Amino acid sequence: MRFLGNVAVGRDVNIGDLTALYDAVVVAVGAGEDRRLGIPGEDLSGVYGSCAFVGWYNGHPDHRDLAPRLGTNVVVIGNGNVAIDVVRVLAKTPAEMATSDLCRHAAEAIAAAPLAALHLVGRRGPVEAAFTPAELAELGRLERCRPVVDAAVLPGGVGDLDGPERAYKEKNLEILRSFAEPDEETIGKPLPLDFVFHARPVAILGNGKVESVRFERTLVRDGIAAGAGETFEIAADTMVTAIGYTMAALDGVPMDANRGVIANRDGVIEPGLYAVGWSKRGPSGTIPTNRADSIAVVERMLGDLKPASKSGRDGLDALLRQRGSRVVSLADWHRIEAAEAARADGEHPREKFTRIEEMLAVLED
Ligand code: NAP
Repeated sequence: MRFLGNVAVGRDVNIGDLTALYDAVVVAVGAGEDRRLGIPGEDLSGVYGSCAFVGWYNGHPDHRDLAPRLGTNVVVIGNGNVAIDVVRVLAKTPAEMATSDLCRHAAEAIAAAPLAALHLVGRRGPVEAAFTPAELAELGRLERCRPVVDAAVLPGGVGDLDGPERAYKEKNLEILRSFAEPDEETIGKPLPLDFVFHARPVAILGNGKVESVRFERTLVRDGIAAGAGETFEIAADTMVTAIGYTMAALDGVPMDANRGVIANRDGVIEPGLYAVGWSKRGPSGTIPTNRADSIAVVERMLGDLKPASKSGRDGLDALLRQRGSRVVSLADWHRIEAAEAARADGEHPREKFTRIEEMLAVLED
């Protein structure tokens, strides 16, 4: 097995090149674009999708220059683990980030932001929230952040759910109950994180930039959030939508436009071409979910395999040479990683390069 970095499908090669060279090709590109809310005001300054926002603080070259406007009031839409990731990174102090590899440009912007309140808004209720307990519980252990939950919105139980889903939803409720009964130490923490349930965003308001978000109260019927008519607004200088991802079209593979994934049957796109992970089944599930999913597709692929005399790696190398591609090998990757570690401050494990030219420049030395 070998690694070929800095080779982009659609730039250096296309899917047809790969299927001509290899007996089997697996597409594992994930879902790298933000879903949109589709409400007025979504293009105002200060409104960001989580893919771009998380990409910004993680130093993804596509989003490194996002320069988000971080104000006093931040509204995060969505009740999944990505929404938690976003509020957690904003809420943590520099000391709590001291051993992380959060990029310096983001760490400095977050530390300098005048954050006064975070609002985490779900269109359904506490039982329907998609958070997992370990991630939710961590919000109760942050140095300066105080989760605020109104006990009146918490139901007595999780209804008629079964199995592992019941267990994790009960655990979530227990954690939310503990947030609704803060101890003295928690009450003294300066940054409130307000959990708002049963509220769906209907408009983002502001003159050129977001100033507030209008929500409609909802009632959940048969698992669906239906508008209940009553609206209210939350002041916001920054809004992040964490409502899931979609996949950008990839030349040479058919898309299932409704689901935002590659059109496939159990991972098979066409003979010799397979999809796994979020580009196969949509943006859900954690690493163990994707592992099981990949094993199933690989078993299918191995069963289908009828090796032909394709030229494989020699053919690919010749093609990339001919096209003048600068391939980054695994040894190169290790050199870039070592350079990132060498330039890290304090206990940070690395200071990532956030531009491709910077990464390639390491290899020129
Ligand atoms: P998610 O878990 O599917 O959550 C998406 C959230 O957005 C849901 O609360 C959903 O509400 C809400 N939403 C969707 N459309 C909306 C709309 N139009 N208006 C308002 N709210 C809307 O997605 P995610 O947070 O992006 O996470 C993706 C996957 O990665 C998940 O499986 C997650 O567990 C995983 N992940 C794991 C970790 C970790 O393990 N630490 C970290 C990050 C992500 P409804 O439920 O009402 O649709």
